[in-house]
Amino acid sequence: MSQAAADRYAWTEPAVEDLGAGVYRIPLPLPMDGLKAVNVYAIADPGGVDLIDAGIALVPAREQLAAGLRQIGYELGDVRNFFVTHMHIDHYSLAVELRKTFHSVISLGEEERANLVATREMVNGRGNRFFGIDGLHRLGALELVTELSAQHRQPPALVDWEDPDRWVADGTDLDLRTRTLRAVHTPGHTRGHLIFHDAAAEIMFAGDHVLPHITPSIGFEAAPHRLALRDYLSSLARTLALPDARLLPAHGPVTGSTHERVNELLAHHDLRLAETHQAVQAGHASPYEVAKAIKWTRHQRLFGDLDLFSRVQAVNETAAHLEVLAVRGQVTREVSADGTELYQMAALAGD
Ligand SMILES: [Zn+2]
Repeated sequence: MSQAAADRYAWTEPAVEDLGAGVYRIPLPLPMDGLKAVNVYAIADPGGVDLIDAGIALVPAREQLAAGLRQIGYELGDVRNFFVTHMHIDHYSLAVELRKTFHSVISLGEEERANLVATREMVNGRGNRFFGIDGLHRLGALELVTELSAQHRQPPALVDWEDPDRWVADGTDLDLRTRTLRAVHTPGHTRGHLIFHDAAAEIMFAGDHVLPHITPSIGFEAAPHRLALRDYLSSLARTLALPDARLLPAHGPVTGSTHERVNELLAHHDLRLAETHQAVQAGHASPYEVAKAIKWTRHQRLFGDLDLFSRVQAVNETAAHLEVLAVRGQVTREVSADGTELYQMAALAGD
């Protein structure tokens, strides 16, 4: 591994990071290809500990959480609260498992309700087995549907998708013993994503809404909706309207400024929207065709060089950008006889 690559993954090392004032970063391992670890943040006081996010319900994550807590003088049974940013398996599932033994209280954004309902339907066999697949037909990506059905991928963990104890509304002030966290609804990555902002301490627990190294996937959820990217861009604007803060992300190292990273993410999506628009102008019509016409990842890779899972995400991501262009009146959408969605340049006013 090059030095740059080694530095890039330094945050995944299983070591507790003391962030000061009773806040600790505890990275937990993940079995996913792209995401090597997830950060759980412990907020400690003499009576116990509250956690932001929980990790995945697998033995290595559970053991590393126990070891991290032990290092700062606590046990799993000392966890009073899990404040979970969103319902993705790598953030939520270990909280559900630990609650069975330790009776800790789980809080989750109230707009995640639809995702939990849809996920339960999915795992009970009444829906598709993976997120992002239902729409592939209409996005023109039949080839991917065929490839996926040839695979029998199992979900990485057996999870009980139980409800949290508490559904948290936008703007709720969470009174912890040492500080108050404002829960701010930031839909986009998922429809019910929350960030937890401590204005007094100038820190933001950003979950997957603002990540330092990668651009968060958009609308990768069991109950997706067309305008997830529009919501995400609004949520970024909302985050910029809050005072600048230290960025405590769920994946990646702690960095100095939420504003700096939000501006980079906004610039990234502006560029993506422009590239998507150009691809439509060049005659690519379905989200699948457009996805194949543009470059992917910060390494400018060809669509065909991505793994299958990334290609599914890329098509969904492209569709999300096309929908924003449609809402802005830059392209129009129609549905072909076989049900594929096709985009074309909007007629200019006065034509
Ligand atoms: Zn996530």
